[in-house]
Amino acid sequence: MNFNRRQWIQAVGLAGFASCCGGCRFAPESGRHQWMFMTEHQELSWGAEVFEELVSREKASQNLPLVQLLSRVGKRIAEQANRADFDWEFELVDSETVNAVCLPGGKVVVSESILPLCENEAGLAVLLSHEVAHILARHGGERLSKGMLVNNAKDNWKSVTRANSTHKTDRMMMAYGVVSEKLETFPYSLSQELEADQIGVKLMANAGYDPNVATEFWKRLGRVNKQRTNEYSTVHVSNERREMSLMACMGDAEQYYADCELKLGRGQAIVTPQT
Ligand SMILES: [Zn+2]
Repeated sequence: MNFNRRQWIQAVGLAGFASCCGGCRFAPESGRHQWMFMTEHQELSWGAEVFEELVSREKASQNLPLVQLLSRVGKRIAEQANRADFDWEFELVDSETVNAVCLPGGKVVVSESILPLCENEAGLAVLLSHEVAHILARHGGERLSKGMLVNNAKDNWKSVTRANSTHKTDRMMMAYGVVSEKLETFPYSLSQELEADQIGVKLMANAGYDPNVATEFWKRLGRVNKQRTNEYSTVHVSNERREMSLMACMGDAEQYYADCELKLGRGQAIVTPQT
């Protein structure tokens, strides 16, 4: 499907509207069928709870320029997401794990350790728009729904949410694929990753960042430590597969970028204590 910039923004917004209902839906961009066993309202409420818990367990970054940079780039991407009803928050944490985590409702947690790999604002925009895309496509809710299906766990889930204290939040984090210690996460599926890439590259282009930076960024990420198990260090999406998928939508993304009044290119270089 070839949408112009306005049509694409409307399509993402429509997918967001449709996603307010539980049951079956279609993922934005790919049109892939998704089963969703919860309303978006439930998903948002649990996402906010897990986000609060995750942030309270991590050490907040003390690097003010980097915190401000994350906030600035995050705001630009969020403005293109067409979900003004979300309470967008981008939190930087002082963690050695090269990772970023997203949760329903517009919550993104980024580790300081991934910033050197971003190299510049546009690299950070790739990362953030990918996470924002996971949120827009409700991949967190899909993960929860799959868990329910596998474990026949609707009743089980009720028992989780009714349980108390730490036990409950640990299990909720696990259900969203977030391991409580050191910002670890379970990887998403291949189709979810490629969807997030394709939605993300268009978001960053609409925000005024050069979308061609996306392939460079993912290549750099592909070289990071492959021992850990999270979406930014797992090998389950090969560089070749990712690049092929990105190339399929790069023409549209470049057009959106060309239509932007304010072009930021690669933006400022990111200077971290490691660089
Ligand atoms: Zn991802």
